[in-house]
Amino acid sequence: MSTATDQRTFDSVNPATGALVGTHPLHDAAAVDAAVRGAGEAARWWAGLGFEGRRRRLFDFKAVLTRDLRRVARKIHEETGKPEGDAVLETALAVVQLDWAARNARKVLGPRRVGTGLVGMNLAATLEYLPLGVVGVIGPWNYPVFTPMGSIAYALAAGNAVVFKPSELTPGTGVLLAELFARSVPEHPVLQVVTGLGETGAALAAHPGVGKISFTGSTATAKRVMAACAANLTPMVAECGGKDALIVDADADLPAAADAALWGAMSNAGQTCVGVERVYVVETVHDAFLDELTRRAKAVRGGEHYGPMTLPAQTEVVRGHVEDALARGGEAAVGGAASVRPPFVDPVVLTGVPEESSAVQEETFGPTVTVNKVASLEEALERANAVAYGLGGTVFSGNTRRAMEIARRMLSGMTAVNGILSFVAVPALPFGGVGGSGFGRVHGADGLREFARPKAIARQRFPLPGMTLSSFERTPADLDRLVKLITFLHGRRKG
Ligand code: NDP
Repeated sequence: MSTATDQRTFDSVNPATGALVGTHPLHDAAAVDAAVRGAGEAARWWAGLGFEGRRRRLFDFKAVLTRDLRRVARKIHEETGKPEGDAVLETALAVVQLDWAARNARKVLGPRRVGTGLVGMNLAATLEYLPLGVVGVIGPWNYPVFTPMGSIAYALAAGNAVVFKPSELTPGTGVLLAELFARSVPEHPVLQVVTGLGETGAALAAHPGVGKISFTGSTATAKRVMAACAANLTPMVAECGGKDALIVDADADLPAAADAALWGAMSNAGQTCVGVERVYVVETVHDAFLDELTRRAKAVRGGEHYGPMTLPAQTEVVRGHVEDALARGGEAAVGGAASVRPPFVDPVVLTGVPEESSAVQEETFGPTVTVNKVASLEEALERANAVAYGLGGTVFSGNTRRAMEIARRMLSGMTAVNGILSFVAVPALPFGGVGGSGFGRVHGADGLREFARPKAIARQRFPLPGMTLSSFERTPADLDRLVKLITFLHGRRKG
């Protein structure tokens, strides 16, 4: 969207080359206000289309996006520097999420009868999930299509209009998404993009016309967004970073575990909220695993197998974590501080890193990983759970029962077993964290409900004779009958 107040602009550049990719308006609070107001009207029209009408439009959007997949991937590549192949994968996974949301919205959110129980036997009870109106989505730059789509597709399928504020590093990708959407839904601005820096996002979070904010980014910024939301009691989803652990059991398939650790830690230059940042290996297989990982990591290079650091300032965070780990007695099995050669960072594998190091406790968001030896699976789990974050995680084990038990006890929203990031490929699975990784869920049925409000209706079908309870005409005999019924139903010790 564009208004007369759009005097100022900002540029997006390719972080690998510094080349200008695009120039976009710095939307101020007035522009955000205009977008949210327009979205409010569009939301009423969109909600009025009903599940079937929206499903048809979203399927159309899905087809448009799929046919333009390469173009979208190219824009992601230009703005983030990631290889086009990775951008294609990201966009394809976003299409899968869009499909699931559109296909399942009625089933998950549509009106349904629920049981009333004996006490309410004269009632008919209906539950449905209604749209919130306007949803504000504040997106990150690391997966500029897949990540916001987890909110956008689900919010739209639930009947909301969306105002999307992409990261200042990837505005062109956001603008392109909205352009493609408008081809399928040209009548009203159901999906709008406002571009700008942090202030634009702050104006969106503080707008009283927004029914919910879905934020993805750092924990620190999530707290600021939450404070802005508090002014209007606007609820939010906070999808923040992680410090995900991969646990390797004594009987795990070591080549598969090393391959998974390498991809999980280094792909997208480690700029993945559910990337692997720590590995805990049971001591009997520690050296064999480390050898396997080291051999593979030495064949991988920044700028060749994955792109640059998209956020330039992050490079210094990575360098700081590596230097801290080495200064505290950790060892570098692959690379070291010299692997940081902006804008690229080559793989760094650190081992024997003290648990209090920043490389173990804080989100690095770079192509580095720590590999630490543990005496048992229990110790691995204890250490995995001993950080402030809890987003994803991975377990490799030859024993399915043991792997499932560890997966359940991992303090995280998602866990992959004997695979890497596999939960991302299953749109029915909810995605989100605990603790410092945030709260709320995108994807799956929970992701649809996240952008809707439950509406409960109880309709009386006939008066219950002899059970006048919520009336000033209630008699002691009515109460006696209620106590008898409740005692009959619930008075025994066994359920
Ligand atoms: P931020 O958390 O600062 O940014 C995320 C989004 O929030 C961006 O769209 C940003 O806009 C916007 N934003 C910034 N300030 C405000 C505000 N006050 N009110 C509303 N919106 C705001 O992340 P960074 O890009 O600075 O990255 C910093 C770190 O965050 C990374 O190094 C990484 O550790 C983590 N991160 C985690 C991600 C994840 O997937 N969970 C994704 C991205 C980052 P703008 O870009 O214009 O500033």
